[in-house]
Amino acid sequence: MSGRGAYYKAKYGGGRGGRGGGGGRGHGGGGGRGGGSDSPGNNALPGSGGGSAETLIQTLHQLDNSQYPRYHSLETVHSLQTNSGGWVYANRDDPAGEPLFVLSIQRTQSDPFAKPTRLRVFVPAATANFPAHLFSNSDRRRALSDRCLRAFYCACVGGGMDQAANQNNPGNWSGPKGGDVKIMQPGQNVLAQSAVAVQTDGSVLAHFTVSLPARGRSILGQVAANIFGSSVPQIVRTGLLSSSFDPAAIEAYVYAIEDQANLRRQLSTHNPPLVAFVADNSVLPRSSGAVDTPLVVNSTEPNVVPFASPPTMSVTLNLNNQNRAVVGMGIPEGVTVIVGGGFHGKSTLLTAIQLGVYDKIPGDGREFIVTRPDAVKVRAEDGRQLHSVDIRPFINNLPFGRSTAQFTSRDASGSTSQAANVMEALEMGSNTLIFDEDTCATNFMIRDAKMAALVHANSEPITPFISRVSSLFKDGKVSSIMVVGGAGDYLNVADKVLMMSNYSCNDVTPDAKAIISNPQFASQVPPVASGQPVSWTNLPSRSLNTGVFRPDWKCAVRSKEKISYGDDIEVQLFGLEQLVAHEQTNSILQAMHKVAKLPSPVSLRDICDQLENDFENKGLLQALTEASFDGTLAQPRKYELAGAISRLRLSNLVTAGKDNTNKMVKY
Ligand code: ADP
Ligand code: MG
Repeated sequence: MSGRGAYYKAKYGGGRGGRGGGGGRGHGGGGGRGGGSDSPGNNALPGSGGGSAETLIQTLHQLDNSQYPRYHSLETVHSLQTNSGGWVYANRDDPAGEPLFVLSIQRTQSDPFAKPTRLRVFVPAATANFPAHLFSNSDRRRALSDRCLRAFYCACVGGGMDQAANQNNPGNWSGPKGGDVKIMQPGQNVLAQSAVAVQTDGSVLAHFTVSLPARGRSILGQVAANIFGSSVPQIVRTGLLSSSFDPAAIEAYVYAIEDQANLRRQLSTHNPPLVAFVADNSVLPRSSGAVDTPLVVNSTEPNVVPFASPPTMSVTLNLNNQNRAVVGMGIPEGVTVIVGGGFHGKSTLLTAIQLGVYDKIPGDGREFIVTRPDAVKVRAEDGRQLHSVDIRPFINNLPFGRSTAQFTSRDASGSTSQAANVMEALEMGSNTLIFDEDTCATNFMIRDAKMAALVHANSEPITPFISRVSSLFKDGKVSSIMVVGGAGDYLNVADKVLMMSNYSCNDVTPDAKAIISNPQFASQVPPVASGQPVSWTNLPSRSLNTGVFRPDWKCAVRSKEKISYGDDIEVQLFGLEQLVAHEQTNSILQAMHKVAKLPSPVSLRDICDQLENDFENKGLLQALTEASFDGTLAQPRKYELAGAISRLRLSNLVTAGKDNTNKMVKY
């Protein structure tokens, strides 16, 4: 064994003194499969801080049949700064060089039924060996990480032993358990995530879990040795080493994702500026409401109509890497109304646009549909919690003089919730709002002439959105894209009118203009109700009393759309339709814990901007939960982050007869 090999073992495997510090002293190289090692001189002692992979495997054999908690002796002490402290797997292709990877185990599960054990793998840059241009900027790193995650995910054998054992002997707790190697399951979107992260220097960190195998409450040492000696190294090789990928294919993948990000950046610099772009030949419909993959032609769905831009709206943008142009529909800034008969594809188009804030995997069908990153889908959400939202632009003169400047409610109505959702999007800096009639409150969107005649303006608190949407763009530079099938008055305020007809998209703006200029259809946009002039720009952000967050409480992400916070508080996130992954919700909960530690008060806007910056600059895991090996985080946008914080209902924090609800978020 060469001096260089010893150097790397000491560098990465360095244990802590006093408890047997493995450090790999005296162990030879050899592959992760356990071949070619010297006789181990120093088996890991409890909490040894690591050593060579051979020592790890040997230890597992020795642990066979021991009490399950003895798995704790595999734990390593990890240094985040140097990535040292772990089980060092030598590289069989270069036994004297940088290791294949270093495996760190922070805390092993204490019984076979507990949450599986979290692991971190660090692959040095020289071993991963990706060409530098594939990780030279953050878009490329996100893309490369995503590609590695997908390969890693596919390599993880599903099943473990639980399933087989349960099939043979259902409910038998003493049968063999565990064995699964699992990592985050990626979806159609290419999100920044914490499961696999290619670092700026080209090294790779992966976070995944193993459910440590057992029979009854005894360690299955041979099985574990096989997992750590064979499966894990094999999976790491498949997922995290450049040599496992076809060089041209992985470059094409990274470039394709970066091209989407660049396409999105071209929107605001285009002349005229665009808010969204839908490429020709995109496939918009999905397999089903629950499955995000593209709809393919089959016997029940004989007609999948690819998107084609109306000629009047066709623009050409560039795919920089692929050195080619892409043609499609450019939706300019302003007010765009999408009309058409029921079931003609309006919501499908709108949904594709609202998700155009994310990059998609190649083959998704929507990969060249891009939308301004600050676009926010707004819907009605009756029942939601509101904290001190200024909804005066839309709602005034509530019964009994109730103020709407700091409107607080534990059970908002459809219209007040939608007004608040608009104002909260603006508070965070959104420049594009997206609405679908399917999920809007009618009285928020429109009031027709007959109703205006019957209910006097002074006794109607709502100024409908139709009366504000033009000023929102003229004075606030905020565009709107909306599906409105049944409210023709919106033709009066639309800059562009698109009609979906048999899934094809037509520019009917001239027809709409002709209709509204016909005296028979005189303008019926209700005038703005009384009250002060409205400002849409530089809205003050609410400040947050962080003291009401309780990081010591039991909190959990129940689903993508539900966080339970403490025993009896549920945060419902179904109103945030641009949340696309459970893992984003995991990050939101971590962010809440982080915010809880800040001194009060903080501005909601500032703190969410700051977090978003940290995600970009430090990486997701470092920004949220520095010390943990959490591979279940994906990056949320600041809009969803702020949206979740704003929906947190802490009404049971009433102390000494005082209700804190009003104090939690206020101007
Ligand atoms: P609308 O909002 O106009 O009522 P939807 O967008 O909900 O209509 O679409 C109705 C149905 O048509 C959905 O099941 C959707 O999957 C399907 N669909 C939408 N666009 C297409 C298309 N381009 N090709 C094939 N099917 C489509
Ligand atoms: Mg619809």
